[in-house]
Amino acid sequence: MERIHSLYLHVPFCTWVCKYCDFNAYAVLEGLIPPYVEALSREVELAGAELPIGPLDTVFIGGGTPSLLTSAQLHQVLDRVRGIGLAPGAEITLEANPSNVTSEQVDGWLQAGVNRLSVGVQSLQPDALRFLERLHSGTDAIAALRTARAGGFSNINADLLYGVPGVNLASWLEALDAVLAAGVQHLSAYELTVESKTRLGQEVRTGLVRMPGDDEQLAQYWAAAERLVTSGYEHYEISNWSLPGFACRHNLAAWQYRPYLGCGAGAHSMFRRFDRSTERRWNIKGPQAYIKQASASGHAVAGSETLSPERALGEAAMIGVRLLDGTTAARDFPAQRTQLISAGLLAEQDSGVRLTRRGIELANQVGAAFLG
Ligand code: SF4
Repeated sequence: MERIHSLYLHVPFCTWVCKYCDFNAYAVLEGLIPPYVEALSREVELAGAELPIGPLDTVFIGGGTPSLLTSAQLHQVLDRVRGIGLAPGAEITLEANPSNVTSEQVDGWLQAGVNRLSVGVQSLQPDALRFLERLHSGTDAIAALRTARAGGFSNINADLLYGVPGVNLASWLEALDAVLAAGVQHLSAYELTVESKTRLGQEVRTGLVRMPGDDEQLAQYWAAAERLVTSGYEHYEISNWSLPGFACRHNLAAWQYRPYLGCGAGAHSMFRRFDRSTERRWNIKGPQAYIKQASASGHAVAGSETLSPERALGEAAMIGVRLLDGTTAARDFPAQRTQLISAGLLAEQDSGVRLTRRGIELANQVGAAFLG
């Protein structure tokens, strides 16, 4: 198996489960975090002993709400990660909810070794935040970005959602401007999607909520893209922009189809075998079952699948095409390339291809073409 240089750690707890959320997240149960941290530490330690992993170039602590961990708990987990070995200048990202970003927490995160903070701003408008069931205000979110910066973070991402019912183009851009003015180096803008199993899914099904149409969503997306590019941010992936040198290295590794290990409840891993096949593994989803299993054995794998070398090539192309600088991952698919180029969805780029504007809008269909 190829050596692994990226590690994802999942913390599945949140103070409240937002109605649109489709992640592996649970309203925090009193007392569950300490044993979870123990189990996660055990899994990381054992993976370090058993897998060809490290030195790690990137570590991403996501959730859920990992900023609910105390500094001591974060220290404990990152100490185990250091046991695997960190490459000099490794990128270590922590996802944080605005309500948890205090100067004490910021200090603790920096001391634990975190050097990139990703703040879940989502929106700034009071109505939109209420609709999304976020527990913070717009003022809290901007204050969180400023606190992180003043406390010493020089690599900060803000996550925003567009296409939120009730937010028009002007107020969407107003929120984006306020976030940029707070001095972020990276911005992720995701469309609010309706997943059928969520409460939002149910509200849309029963007609209680009407989502904005595709045209409105695309108008917000392209207006943001233009605003970000004119503000000096590079549009490097469909939903991601960064100042030069601040692209998220952890996510880049995944889009470049490099292997990663995922630890924690429901975490996924991707390994590359020397015969060019890919192995995907996933952990037990529920936190209680995960704690039980990982504490007892250090393992929590619930299932796995192997993709043939041909299928793995298709998957690499499907994922790689999301990078807007272009990708060479589609080189083994001449027929699909020709077809997508003549449909105006891909364009030739150096020795590879890149998505056109229309291709970005239909990126899922473009990607699916490589899986046959
Ligand atoms: S805070 Fe994030 S992970 Fe937690 S429930 Fe809300 S959307 Fe999901």
